[in-house]
Amino acid sequence: MAVAQEIRCSHCGAPVEFKPGELVATCKYCGFTTIIETGQAFTFEHSLILNQYDPTRIDEPIKDWMQSGFLKPADLARKSRIVEKDLVYLPFWVISVEAKSKYKGIFERIAPPIVKEDSIEKEYNWLVLAREATEFPTREYDVPLEGKVPYDFRKIEGFAKILNSEIEREEALDLAKQQIEAHHRFLLEKDVDRIIEISTEFNVKQEVYLHSPIWFVKYEYKGSVYQLIIDGATGTTLKGDIPSSKFSLL
Ligand SMILES: [Zn+2]
Repeated sequence: MAVAQEIRCSHCGAPVEFKPGELVATCKYCGFTTIIETGQAFTFEHSLILNQYDPTRIDEPIKDWMQSGFLKPADLARKSRIVEKDLVYLPFWVISVEAKSKYKGIFERIAPPIVKEDSIEKEYNWLVLAREATEFPTREYDVPLEGKVPYDFRKIEGFAKILNSEIEREEALDLAKQQIEAHHRFLLEKDVDRIIEISTEFNVKQEVYLHSPIWFVKYEYKGSVYQLIIDGATGTTLKGDIPSSKFSLL
């Protein structure tokens, strides 16, 4: 386990702990956010999505998930036992951007093939997870942005864990641009069979650093442990491991 290093919060003077690889750290005493490399204050908007569940109430969406959907074993809710429920505030960058991809491609599904030249123009609140190794289904997560408030450390539960960002703003922006262009290439697959050229222009409107409440739940069912990832703002299951139903012929 790597040892946590320390800097001083430039707002309240308290020690701000951070781990190797983390680039942006938030003071747990006053909520002030610092860029670790420079020790400078973070000047972009830092927001928080509020958690709506406590460790007891989170059982409701867990049970609901277990009881719904026909792919699950019928006795899943009855026979499983929750063994772990951790509330983690995950860091994200939300890049609000207009993206316009001009492209030229060949449509080969008809004879003779035709060359198509057109553009895709879309607006996004593109989400970039600010952790390198965290297993999280970012593209499944429809971040409830309308519920965001300015980051407030007093609204963070004592039992919750807060993760700092391992990705700087510029890197997040680059990642968002790459991912958006890849997404546009994907969208183009229904219009052209081969892309000859594509170039994307971005008009970045806003970049927000955001902490979102995510529940990481583990449950045990018939001797194996499975994971659920639940949005703490809405109770929606973002990812859930389902035990495979074994049908017996006997
Ligand atoms: Zn502080």
